Amino acid sequence: MSQGKRVFIFLGPPGSGKGSLSKLCVNELGWEQLSTGNLCREHISNQTEIGKKIDFAIKSGKLVSDGLIVEMVKKWLDECLSAKECVILDGFPRTLAQAEALDVLLKERFSFSDLSVVKLVIEDEKVVARLSGRYICQNDRCQEVYSLIKGSSLAPRKHMVCDACLGPLMRRSDDNKDSVKERLRTYHRHENKLLSFFETQGQAVTEFCVDKPLDVVFDNFKALVGLDRE
Ligand code: AMP
Repeated sequence: MSQGKRVFIFLGPPGSGKGSLSKLCVNELGWEQLSTGNLCREHISNQTEIGKKIDFAIKSGKLVSDGLIVEMVKKWLDECLSAKECVILDGFPRTLAQAEALDVLLKERFSFSDLSVVKLVIEDEKVVARLSGRYICQNDRCQEVYSLIKGSSLAPRKHMVCDACLGPLMRRSDDNKDSVKERLRTYHRHENKLLSFFETQGQAVTEFCVDKPLDVVFDNFKALVGLDRE
């Protein structure tokens, strides 16, 4: 059981920068990130039985079943959760059933936890534009995110090569137009139910604007969590 963790849920549409902001928190603040999207992609690239089952759902922008996701989260908590003070849940929970499962897990696995829900706010048209230029390092232990949109601060130093591990960059299989549409539709379908759930739990949700360059978003996030005063 983990003592005194601060747990952040990043709730936001695809392309809102949940993963990029999480990665900065990991690298710069020594936090920990649980990304259910990364776990799913690892299963697919390792061609596990789970990977074979979820490949089609992911490519077409649909959600993976709650049962499989909750199993992945439990396994990650058992095997990977470290003693770090803060953990970000990036892309989990995404449905009401997952939020209910998380509620139980937090009570079971954390003797005390301070939960913060941060809703990343950006217009759909902006995320569609962002995702059209998003490239990811193909090395699944890295999965660094880049943007080939002109003027972006996320451009790789060398064209189509990851700065961090020199792996090749690729578009995500679910970043095509139809899947992005489906993922946005799915996100909005579940968002209100999640927000109502948090409301009934008495859990505050902080709206946080992410329609800014990543360095500005990170500075604002540190201010939001009180780390600008340290
Ligand atoms: P992400 O990397 O968070 O954008 O997730 C990529 C894809 O993985 C999603 O479009 C879903 O197909 C799947 N996925 C990730 N997290 C979840 C989740 N919590 N519940 C269901 N499916 C998920």
